[in-house]
Amino acid sequence: MQLVSFSDAARAIAGAQKVVAVTGAGASVESGIPDFRSAGGLWERYPIEEFATIHAFLRDPDRVWKLWHELGQQLLSVEPNAGHLALAELERLGRLDAVITQNIDNLHQRAGNTRVVEYHGNARRLICMSCGRLEPLEFDTIAPAAPRCACGGVQKPDVVFFGEMIPHEAMNEAEALAQTADAVLIVGTSAQVYPAAGLPYTAKEHGATVIECNVERTDFTDTITDFFLEGPAGHMLPRLVQEVSRLL
Ligand code: NAD
Repeated sequence: MQLVSFSDAARAIAGAQKVVAVTGAGASVESGIPDFRSAGGLWERYPIEEFATIHAFLRDPDRVWKLWHELGQQLLSVEPNAGHLALAELERLGRLDAVITQNIDNLHQRAGNTRVVEYHGNARRLICMSCGRLEPLEFDTIAPAAPRCACGGVQKPDVVFFGEMIPHEAMNEAEALAQTADAVLIVGTSAQVYPAAGLPYTAKEHGATVIECNVERTDFTDTITDFFLEGPAGHMLPRLVQEVSRLL
């Protein structure tokens, strides 16, 4: 791994046939959504084991919906940040084929990326636990208790809780992208949550150049990262994309 100038990383992206971004909670921190590890974040008041596991949801859906009610109010007011907008610009430049995101906040889609693999689902949808029907989740009208489907079943946010499988379609699409990308841009993910954390390793095994942007080093940094952009995504990605556009 080299600590690099933007031009080295930009050259790898500009020269690649297929570029894929793999993003995590850090990509949305500058939009005001805390990641799992920030002090004072939602997750300190709502411990993951009690609120983000499928077992907790099935045991007491109304209790778990208190978290989603609060998260929903937060998501109503957030906007894509400069990092999201830079990734959308990279797609417009023809240098980003897809974003695989672990985030459930819909911000890459709102920023303008058109191919977003929702690896952990999307908090703007509901899924019925009985009939599987999907419908939009309107955060401005949501109540702090589990909503019910027309069939009477309990509805869950259409996101992957701990203990649930990744949706097959997203898993297959992400795996195929990782195997065929020749440059991977990892943004704001701690490399701790599997199977998502395995995607950059797969890409590297298939010959991809790995560019990583994070405010701190991760397990990727000293193992597979070729170019490490150390700093907040909202600062680093616009500079990277500006450099890519200069090279095209
Ligand atoms: P994580 O919380 O484990 O790690 C976040 C990473 O982002 C850390 O490595 C941190 O150093 C880095 N980071 C923080 N601020 C950054 C910034 N401004 N720029 C660049 N990097 C920054 O998150 P994870 O790896 O995505 O895994 C956690 C799980 O939590 C995921 O499954 C995700 O679905 C879920 N989650 C999603 C959201 C969201 O949708 N916005 C928010 C919190 C958690």
